[in-house]
Formats: sequence, C-alpha cells, structure tokens
Amino acid sequence: MPELPEVETVKNTLKKIVINKKINNVKINYKNIIEYPSSEEFIKNIINQTIIDMKRRGKWLMFELNDYFLLSHLRMEGRYFYKNKCDNHIKHEHVIFEFDDDTELRYIDTRKFGRMYLLEKENIYNVKPLNELGYEPWDKELTVDYLKEKYKNKKLPIKTVILDQSIIVGIGNIYADEILFLSKINPLKKASLLNDIELNNIILYTKQVLDAAIKNGGTTIKSYESSEGVHGRFQQSLLVHNRDKEKCHVCSTTIIKTRIGGRGTYYCPNCQA
Ligand SMILES: [Zn+2]
Repeated sequence: MPELPEVETVKNTLKKIVINKKINNVKINYKNIIEYPSSEEFIKNIINQTIIDMKRRGKWLMFELNDYFLLSHLRMEGRYFYKNKCDNHIKHEHVIFEFDDDTELRYIDTRKFGRMYLLEKENIYNVKPLNELGYEPWDKELTVDYLKEKYKNKKLPIKTVILDQSIIVGIGNIYADEILFLSKINPLKKASLLNDIELNNIILYTKQVLDAAIKNGGTTIKSYESSEGVHGRFQQSLLVHNRDKEKCHVCSTTIIKTRIGGRGTYYCPNCQA
C-alpha cells in the first residue's frame, strides 16, 4: 500500500505532467471508484475543467481544477499512467481522463479499492473526506501542546495511537516503529503517559523519517507508474522495522518483535526501555 511519501512522490511526478491539461472527456469503466457525486454528475462537472495545480493532503491526491478538486485515494494498488490516446489499453483501466491534446491519464487499479471525489473548492477541508484528517507532519500547528491534548485520555499503547490518522496523518506501520525507536519510546507505553520531551521527539522524528522517505522516493522513483522502488530502497535503511533477531546499531541489544494492536512491532528493549 502506498504510504504518504509515495503519494507525495506521485503528486510531484503528476504535477510535472498534468498541469494546464484541459479535460475533454472522462470514461468511467468501473463506477464504484467514484465515491461522490454520481458518475453521471462527475463526468458532467469535470468536462472542460483545466488542471491548475496538484496538491496532497494525507494520502489523498488533490487535482485542483478551475471550479473543483478531484480527490483520489490510491488505497492498495491504484496507479496513474500517462498515455497517448492511441496507446493500447490494458486491463483494469477504470477511469480515463481524456485531455484536449490527445493524451490521457488512466487510473488503473487491479484491486478496485481506490476512490475519487469531485468536490466544489469552497470548504474542501471542512467536508468528507478531508475533514477527518489530523495535521500534516510539517504543520506548524503540530505542537507538544496539541499532542498532549489529543493523547491525554488515550490509554492505548503509543504504537497504536501514533497510527491514528485523525491526530497526525502519514505515519504508517513501518514509519511508526522507526519514529518510536529514534524517539526512545517503548511502543507499549500508554500515549497518555508520554512526557513533553517524548512528545517533542515524536514531532521531530516524524518529520525526519518522512522527509528521508520522500527524499528517497523523489530520487529513486523514475516513473509515477511504480511505487515499488520507493519502498524497497527505504527499507534498506530501516533501523528496527523487520530487523528482529538483529543487533541494535546503537547498543547491540537484540531487537525484538511483538504485536501491538494487531500490528507487527519491532523495537530495541534497551534503547526503548
Ligand atoms: Zn538499542
């Protein structure tokens, strides 16, 4: 599943391609991808709109059009392919955006879990689905006081709470283990018991880990068609995730694996005592 850094890379790559493209027509081959509005209204409203910018919020790609935002969530396997109109079609091309220069953006999704919304620009951040999202890791509003308030009644392990996208977006399971290792926090510790230094570390290392992942994604990914390379490269530099039975590079204690909230969790029992 693409994580925030991969989605950021997809956004940056698409931005170089689709800005100023005018949408002449849309073909929808699998209607369930369109979450809102109806596919008929989706097509009617998007025709003649020009893509003026690409943004990202959480794992939502945001195509900014003249009057709307097209939101697209890739979920498990969604991908975009930029093609010429005459290029051969392949399986699972569920939504095809036809531009006025005879090129197309094709949304391909073998698992069909991806979703799109076409929403009026006004209030976009106050309505579903974007209103359910917490702060971006780089948001200045993400402070120790904010986390203290959000975590004060959370009796669950921090490993579980740090994955809560309504507090901070973009921390997936792998990143969570890395952030908690760098923050020297035991993943089983209750979120409500974290002190100011630990909360500050979470903010600091969330940015650091995601910045590094985006940088990797930005430099290794050659094509927006594939997100596999990003993950592979990033995993080589992981400190604890997937490294059980290996020695911690800080203290040489053996890294252990456990399950917290149903998620595989890796940590150093000494550094994260
Ligand atoms: Zn250690």
